[in-house]
Amino acid sequence: MKQPTIAVVSVSGGKDSTATALLAIDQHGRDKCRFVFADTGHEHEATVEYVKDYLPRALGATIDVVRADFAKDIARKRLYVAEVWPTKGVPPEIVERALSVLQPTGIPFLDLCLWKGRFPSRKAQFCTQELKRHPLDAYTIDLMRAGHRVESWQGVRRDESANRRDVADREMTPEGWEIVRPIAAWSAAEVFALLCDRGIEPNPLYLQGCSRVGCLPCINCSKDELSVIARRWPHHVARVREWERLVGMASKRGFSTLLHHADGEGGDAEHAYRHSNIDSMVEWARTGRGGHTFDMLKTLPLPACSSVYGLCE
Ligand code: SF4
Repeated sequence: MKQPTIAVVSVSGGKDSTATALLAIDQHGRDKCRFVFADTGHEHEATVEYVKDYLPRALGATIDVVRADFAKDIARKRLYVAEVWPTKGVPPEIVERALSVLQPTGIPFLDLCLWKGRFPSRKAQFCTQELKRHPLDAYTIDLMRAGHRVESWQGVRRDESANRRDVADREMTPEGWEIVRPIAAWSAAEVFALLCDRGIEPNPLYLQGCSRVGCLPCINCSKDELSVIARRWPHHVARVREWERLVGMASKRGFSTLLHHADGEGGDAEHAYRHSNIDSMVEWARTGRGGHTFDMLKTLPLPACSSVYGLCE
């Protein structure tokens, strides 16, 4: 007997996944689609509201939310720190310091970093896998176990980045579901045109200078994006400052930073921290090209609307 097909659309609050959701509904009908948001706890509140409140109304569909849970990993790490660190010569005050913060907070991104004792980086980008891929895979596997053939619809475009230049329109995963990328050949303008056509508002962050709307800030965020974030949403800079303090306490080195500045490489731990902590990175984001001159323009108040996609026109 032919298995019923379910299209699973991973919704991030970004334009591409919203367009993909619309196309999945066109092809399969709302009843044969599932929409799922991997909540990292590191998104802007506008994105969370857009995904949990606006989009369900706009799409006429429920959006399921999955959240990675690292409570067991943190419990195992506590044991390891208490029992093994002392045998490896780690001073008692560093063991005590780590144990004082190794408790699950329920915020997936922060808990992941507490468990690992560090933030992810471009070279060790474990956040995508742990916070998005694993929970979404588990969601998909549950549907397959319930007897469905699953298509995983992804809002990925080839012109987004060099990494994505060669992505296929469709491919099978070793686990047995099919990945479908209906907008792989689209431009950003075409995506926004579809949303406009269907009367769907884009995430409001696009109107405030963000070129992407996932984690805020993403570990891969650009200098200009960080400058916008620092000026518009200083409370998110304050949140990252606090997370850097906590994750630093959980690490043997005593510090870890969300972002990494090239000038911080090659020196000792203190040198790396001095260049890459969130406040230093924000200061650097206020400079012009080359990073040595202060850019007065980057201190001026931002206009209410400053879309990098020209949505204000
Ligand atoms: S959006 Fe950035 S910080 Fe968030 S999971 Fe993806 S790579 Fe990591």
